[in-house]
This record gives sequence, structure tokens and C-alpha cells, in this order.
Amino acid sequence: MRHEIAPRSGAGFELKAGERLTVIDPRGEQVADLLAFAKADPREAISSGRTLDYANRIFLTTGDLLYSNRSNVMLEIVEDDVGRHDFLLTPCSKDTFRIIYGDTDPHRGCFGNLAAALEPWGIDADSIPVAFNCFMNVAVDGETGALSVDPPKSKAGDRIVFLAKVDLIIGLTACSALQSNNGSFKPIEYQIG
Ligand SMILES: [Zn+2]
Repeated sequence: MRHEIAPRSGAGFELKAGERLTVIDPRGEQVADLLAFAKADPREAISSGRTLDYANRIFLTTGDLLYSNRSNVMLEIVEDDVGRHDFLLTPCSKDTFRIIYGDTDPHRGCFGNLAAALEPWGIDADSIPVAFNCFMNVAVDGETGALSVDPPKSKAGDRIVFLAKVDLIIGLTACSALQSNNGSFKPIEYQIG
């Protein structure tokens, strides 16, 4: 069964060890922030730092493993139509929109959407780490390290598939930041199987 996440919103759900999570960009150029927490102890969460350290790369794709803060493998990327995702930047938030966009009445962003979606499992906002940002296209200047958030390379219908290695609580969004999504807010779809 395919689920839709409406533009600028998020969802929380459980994923059992051995199940696959497919994240689909139905219209193209739309980012989805993904968080994973261990069902057994949600203080164990997906870790950008550990994952990038062990991969020795910042761009991850098919065959790469996503590790937790306790260095356990939580997810494996098993299929990837796009090949460009971000694991450096935090979920967009009220503060992102205030500081970067200058909004006076900012949207709660992926961060607020994730906090709300994960609240039923007792996961609070302060426990939200850097998310794996599916389809987010952050280019890095190899000399200076300067970052630029470019339009996603995903086309309509493109997907990335994750295999769960342990029982997980997942948070997933349709990202709320204009720059990350080439100027428009679109839905995200996902499937568990
Ligand atoms: Zn976002």
C-alpha cells in the first residue's frame, strides 16, 4: 500500500527488521527527510557522523549502510534511482526559515513535523539528529568546503529503497524548504513491504 505525505508535512511509523521502506518522489525535485530510531531504545538514533565516518564519503547510494550513534547498522540502501542525497544538513525548522529566509512568521518545517510525528513514541525535539535527506542535492566545493543547495536530481517516480536491519521507528517528511525543492512544495509517497 502506498501512503502519501502531503506537502510541508510529515509521518511517523514503525518498520520491522527485514522490511523494506521505499521512498518515492511522485512529481520530481522533492526532498524527504528520513529519521530512524531503534524501537528497543529510541535513544539509539541514525547518526550522520558515524555513517559518513565509516563510509569515508559524503554521498551515499546503493550498498551503503546507515549507522546509529551506537555504531549499529539501522538501514541499508538497497536501490537508488537518483544517486544524490544529503546527510550533512539538519531538518529545516522555524529557525532555518528565520535565519536563512528572514521569515517573520516561520513554518515549523521538517523539524517541527518530525517532532510531532514522533511524539507518540516519546521522542522529543531535542532527540532529533541530522536526517538522511532523500533526494536533497547539496554540492560541496572540494577546496573551500562551501555548500550549495541545488535542485534535486530526482525525476517524477524516482525512488530510494531502504532495508531495515533492526526494528525501527521512522520519521519521514515532504520537505518544507523552498531552496531544497527547487521553489515548490510537493508531496512524498512511501511504501512498506
Ligand atoms: Zn525540510
